[in-house]
Amino acid sequence: MIVPLIAPGKIPGAISFVATESGKRYDKRDLALAEEVGRKAGVALDHARLYHQVQEARNQLDIILQGVADGILAYDSDTHILYANEMAARMNGYPSVQEMLTAQQLDILTCYDLIDERGQPFPHNRLTHRRVFAGEASAQAIIGFHEQGTGQAARWSLVKSRPVRDDSGAVAMVVTIIQDITERMKAEQRKDDFISMTSHELKTPVTSLKGFVYVLQRRLAKQGDTAGLHYLARIDAQLDKLTLLISDLLDISRMQSGKLELRTKAFNLDTLIDETVENVQATTSTHRLLVEGRTDAQVFGDYERMGQVFVNLLTNALKYSPLADTVLVHLSCNTGQKQAIVSVQDSGIGIDKAHHEHIFERFYQVTDPEEKTYPGLGIGLYISHEIVTRHQGKIWVESSKGHGTTFFVALPLFSAEEMPAQA
Ligand code: ADP
Repeated sequence: MIVPLIAPGKIPGAISFVATESGKRYDKRDLALAEEVGRKAGVALDHARLYHQVQEARNQLDIILQGVADGILAYDSDTHILYANEMAARMNGYPSVQEMLTAQQLDILTCYDLIDERGQPFPHNRLTHRRVFAGEASAQAIIGFHEQGTGQAARWSLVKSRPVRDDSGAVAMVVTIIQDITERMKAEQRKDDFISMTSHELKTPVTSLKGFVYVLQRRLAKQGDTAGLHYLARIDAQLDKLTLLISDLLDISRMQSGKLELRTKAFNLDTLIDETVENVQATTSTHRLLVEGRTDAQVFGDYERMGQVFVNLLTNALKYSPLADTVLVHLSCNTGQKQAIVSVQDSGIGIDKAHHEHIFERFYQVTDPEEKTYPGLGIGLYISHEIVTRHQGKIWVESSKGHGTTFFVALPLFSAEEMPAQA
């Protein structure tokens, strides 16, 4: 009696039943039983084959993941580590994956002091996998690891987490990738040190040049040397540009080291805008700066620093709209969201969407051939973003290439009782 082995969709073999000396003759019941055995054995055989295939694929994947230069971790919804590759174990100070998996989560977190880019303690609830479990679509952070007690230099990692969802869309697992960026951070530090040192060094000679220009101006005025005075005025204007540049670079250094101080007080936002617009208007004969609307808002912050933000936005609007003749400043209040909103709109060259998320980064400039012709260092928007963020505000852009640009700044509104105490 021969019956097929039946697996889903195929017949992987057959079973023969042979009766010899017993003289037994198979009947229908024996055949039904044999067929049932064939079906069960077929399914079992298929499962074994599938299991083997899965096991092989898993081993292959593991070999690949173990060889990756980045650390890879997978967390379950209790934030327990489900999977770690060799590099993740090493980056967290464990000699092997096994030891890392058996260690408690807490051990891993407490054997290092975690710091952020500014050297401040990195709160554990801001760890990227926790943020994703808390609902963020993905999370990314730069984290410095200080070995406790050793005082050893920090190791830096770029950590990115993404969710893996089950069929119902719930986060079943979070996968975290840790990239070692220590060398990059060291290079950044050297660059920051260089900027800080050179801007300090440049400040003194420029200040003394300004002093001598002033002395010479008085002398030439007495002598009635108008040609000489004309050239001196041009030297003076160039020195002012240099002074601005140096103070921007100094601001960058202060921001990087978290030392930018704000002199805060309550002030009228409309007055600040009127004053800034008037000052910037005096520097251009090609454009008219128009102010529309009012906020009638008292905001709380550093008057000078917020002024610096609007000077940056207005000078950019002038610079990047050479063929236009107006720039529109719009003031409004969103009482629902308790925000005062200032927008600066030009009808210039515009910014392609691909650059929107980068233009507030340090030294970022749009590098299309057309933009290359505009002078600048790519620091104005970075500084503006830092200042606005320090005021618990928001800055963003709406633009597309060739269709002008509008920058928005939203600042929080406080009622008289809520107004923070004067600093
Ligand atoms: P920069 O000194 O280069 O102007 P910013 O930080 O002020 O530096 O701006 C960064 C980049 O954003 C600029 O290089 C420019 O490409 C783009 N940008 C800023 N403002 C505008 C604007 N109003 N119109 C078009 N492009 C702009």
